[in-house]
Amino acid sequence: VRALAERAGIDVLHYDLRLDLRTVAEKQLSGAASLSFLLRPGARQISFDLAGMEVDSVLLDGVHTEFRLAAGVLSLLSPKPADPPAHEMTVFYHGSPSEGLIFGRDGAGDPTAFADNWPNRARWWFPANDHPSDKATVRFDVRVPGGWSLVANGARSQPEDRSPEADGSRRWEWETRVPIPVYTMVIGLARFSHLDLGRAACGRAPNAPGGCVRVSVWALRGDSAYGAERFRRAVDMVDFFAKLIGPFSFEKLTHVESSTRFGGMENSSAIFYPRVPWSERRMSEGVIAHETAHQWFGDAVTPARWGHLWLSEGFASYFGPLYFRDRDGEEAFRTRMAAARARVLDSDVSARPVIDEDATELYSLLNSNNYQKGAWILHMLRGVVGDSAFFRGVREYYREHRDGNVLTEDFQRAMEKTSDMSLEWFFRQWLYQPGFPQLRAEWWTEDVNAGGSGGADLSGRADPAGDADLDGKANPAGSNRELVIAVSQTQPPGWPTFRLPMEVAVRPEGGGAPVRRPILLSTRADTVRLRVERPVADISLDPGEWVLGRFEISHRGETP
Ligand SMILES: [Zn+2]
Repeated sequence: VRALAERAGIDVLHYDLRLDLRTVAEKQLSGAASLSFLLRPGARQISFDLAGMEVDSVLLDGVHTEFRLAAGVLSLLSPKPADPPAHEMTVFYHGSPSEGLIFGRDGAGDPTAFADNWPNRARWWFPANDHPSDKATVRFDVRVPGGWSLVANGARSQPEDRSPEADGSRRWEWETRVPIPVYTMVIGLARFSHLDLGRAACGRAPNAPGGCVRVSVWALRGDSAYGAERFRRAVDMVDFFAKLIGPFSFEKLTHVESSTRFGGMENSSAIFYPRVPWSERRMSEGVIAHETAHQWFGDAVTPARWGHLWLSEGFASYFGPLYFRDRDGEEAFRTRMAAARARVLDSDVSARPVIDEDATELYSLLNSNNYQKGAWILHMLRGVVGDSAFFRGVREYYREHRDGNVLTEDFQRAMEKTSDMSLEWFFRQWLYQPGFPQLRAEWWTEDVNAGGSGGADLSGRADPAGDADLDGKANPAGSNRELVIAVSQTQPPGWPTFRLPMEVAVRPEGGGAPVRRPILLSTRADTVRLRVERPVADISLDPGEWVLGRFEISHRGETP
C-alpha cells in the first residue's frame, strides 16, 4: 500500500459528498463525491485514493470519462486537460465499506455508522487525496433514516426545521468554512441524544456562527446524563485554549460518543470518543483536554508529513496537562508529566529519533516519541526560553499557520524569533537524534586557595569569577569552599551528548531552604564547581523537573 504517497500536483480545494445512508442497517453506502481541485504542473495524471468501493461512473468537468480502479487508486484515463488548472471530478459509487466508515449497533441494537479515518482510511468510503498535506473544505449532504441524526464537521447548512423526505428519511447537511485534514473529515450516524453545553471562546471564534463556539455532546441513548457530567469542563477548556493559543478555528465543537478504535479522535469540530469507556462511565478527563487541544494543534495547524506527527500529538499531550495546571494546580500538572516521563524512559522507541520520516507503518507512529516525549520536548523548550518567549512563540506559530500545514522547522523559526535565541542545538538533539540523557553525578566539597581571592582559577578556568557568577551573585567574600559536581552522560554512544542547561538544588547543613544554582552540561564528563558559603548537606539535580532524563546522584565517599 502506497500509504505515504501524496498525489503529486493535485491540490483538492473542496469535497462535496452527497451520500445515502438510508441503508445503514444493511451496511450499504451509495453516493456522489464531487472534488474541486487544482492541477499543478507536476501532475502526471489525475488520480485519487479510493479503495473497496464500486465506481459506477466518473465525470471530469461534467463530461463522462474512462477510469481505472486498481490497488486503491482511482485513475482517470482521459488526457490531462490543459489550462485552466481548476477542475471538478464527480464520482458516483456504492458499496459496503470494510474500513474507514464503521457500521455497528448501539446499546439498544439500532444501527450506527461512524467514520474513523486516521491515518489514511478516508479512501475506504470516499475518493480523496488521502494525505494530511492536502487540506480542503468539505460539505456533507447525507440522507438518513427517520429518527436518526447525523453529526459531521462544520456547521449545519440547512434549516433546522426542514421537513422529512417522502419516504420519511431526512437529509442532514454540514459544511466547513475552513480547510481541514482529510483524516478528520467525518460523519457519525446514530439515534443520538443531543446536549448543549454552552458557548465558548466568544470573540475568539471567527468562523463560528455568532462569534461563539457552541459546545455540545451527542451521546448514544441512555448515555447523555453521564456525558453532561463528564464534559462539564468542556466549555472551559475551549475558553482556556482560545485565550492561551489563539482563535478557535472551527464552526462548533461537538463531543460524540462513537465507535472509534482510538482512545479519542480529534476530528475537526466533531471529536469522536470510543463507546466502551463512555458507556461504562470511566472516561478520563485527560482525554477530553487532549482532544480539545488537538483542535488547535493537529486540526487547525496540521503536520504536512507523517514524520512530524509530534507537532500534533506532542502538542496535544502538553497543552492538555497545561489546562489542568492552570485550573487544578501545579501538582496536577506534575503528576501527568511524571507519568509521561516514565513512559519515555521505559520505551524501546526512545532509541529512535522523534522525527521519523522512514516509518512505513503509520500506526507505529502512535508511540511515546510522538506523545509523551513530544510533550516533554515542549516542556523543556519552555524551560530553556522561559514562559514569556515560549507562549509568545506558540501564539505566533499558531497565528501564522492556522488552517495550514507545518513542519518542525516552522515551529523552530517561531520560537527562535520570540526567544531571540538560536535553538538549532535544541531541536537537533531532541527531535532529530534519539534517546535521552542518563546522568551519573557525584559531588563533594573542597576547600580551595586558603587566604586568597578569586580561587575559582583552581577549576582550571581562565575567568576567575566565572563559576560564582552563574547565579548572578558575587563571589561571597571569605568563602573558600567549593561544591564540585562531576557529571557523566552515560547514555549509549549512538545517542547524542546532550547540551543541558539545568539547575541543581544545594541544601546547606544545619537547615535552611535549598538554593537553586544554574549549571550547563555539554560533554560526556563535565565537572562543575560552585562556590558555596556553608557546608553542603546534599544536592539534587533538576529540582524544578524541567529536564527529561534518568538521573543518579551520589556523595563521594558514600556508597552510590
Ligand atoms: Zn492525540
